Amino acid sequence: MKNNKNILVDSFNRKHTYLRISLTERCNLRCTYCMPEDGVLLSHKSNIMNFDEIYSIAKTFVENGVTKIRLTGGEPLIRKGLPVLLKKLATLPVEIGITTNGVIVDRFMDTFKKCGIEHINVSLDSLKKEKFRQITRRNYFERVQKNILLLVENGFKVKINAVLIRGFNDDEIVDFVKLSKDLPISIRFIEFMPFDGNKWDMKKMVSYAEIIDRLNSHFLEEQIERLQDNPNDTSKNYKIKGYKGSFAIISSVTNPFCDSCNRLRLTADGHLKNCLFSNSESDLLTKLREGNPIEPIIQKAVQAKFKVRGGMDTLEKLKEPKFHSLNRNMTTIGG
Ligand code: SAM
Repeated sequence: MKNNKNILVDSFNRKHTYLRISLTERCNLRCTYCMPEDGVLLSHKSNIMNFDEIYSIAKTFVENGVTKIRLTGGEPLIRKGLPVLLKKLATLPVEIGITTNGVIVDRFMDTFKKCGIEHINVSLDSLKKEKFRQITRRNYFERVQKNILLLVENGFKVKINAVLIRGFNDDEIVDFVKLSKDLPISIRFIEFMPFDGNKWDMKKMVSYAEIIDRLNSHFLEEQIERLQDNPNDTSKNYKIKGYKGSFAIISSVTNPFCDSCNRLRLTADGHLKNCLFSNSESDLLTKLREGNPIEPIIQKAVQAKFKVRGGMDTLEKLKEPKFHSLNRNMTTIGG
């Protein structure tokens, strides 16, 4: 493997070893905080990376030091022919994980196992059927619930992602944590983030500090154990003593983890984003299709990475609609 140029080290000496690849902009849910009400303008099919292109770009990143790839979207599992792509990617020396809404996970158990995919993150924002329907605008609650259990039974390492929105599901914080009592899963509360068209409002966001306060008022202080975070963890990890699973908080808004950021994102139309919050992108796919090397563009994009949250270094800047309305919505970035 050639790995001598360090093209994935940025000007703050952060080494990028983690690539999130969006496989599609399409989704089988319509989560209110993720997709604008009137849908998203999808890229033309010819502008979406095909499997050979995804493989080729992924290989370039792996050759330059990426050790972990997470497939996301849109909903990655609805990408046609997915098992073929997974088998191809599984030949690379890299850990592969998937972030999914879980609706059709049951169809992929064997493929995941054959491809050595162990880490599956499932998004679930409510434990109540009616609320699930309200937030996703779809009726798949029981399917997702069943599929989470199926993943656990089959030995996958499962994390549940829940975006908390004040007045909607913040009354379920304790219930979510209690899910980890008998199940060896990690519940991850994500602070609600601003993107184009998602009607973000700081007041709707439930902060890290507040989540901990709420848990402190339910559990005894000595029951809540702070766990050691891994070096590039985006989450602050905890556990209730005696529970099989754990819980964590991803505080991208109030307590960003940019200092240790090792992530890059590739959109389904082959654009590299050096930060989730950044509104600038580098078109790798066009270069690849022209037959040109993509390493110089990757290097330039990595060098241009801001120190904090795509340049929105203060909460005041983050609150400014002019900043996040320049960014894509989450479903076309690849969450
Ligand atoms: N369809 C897959 C899923 O549902 O997990 C993958 C794509 S989804 C965009 C990836 C993650 O982004 C989900 O966990 C979702 O909850 C999260 N997400 C989307 N919009 C968000 C926002 N505005 N703030 C915080 N998290 C968000």
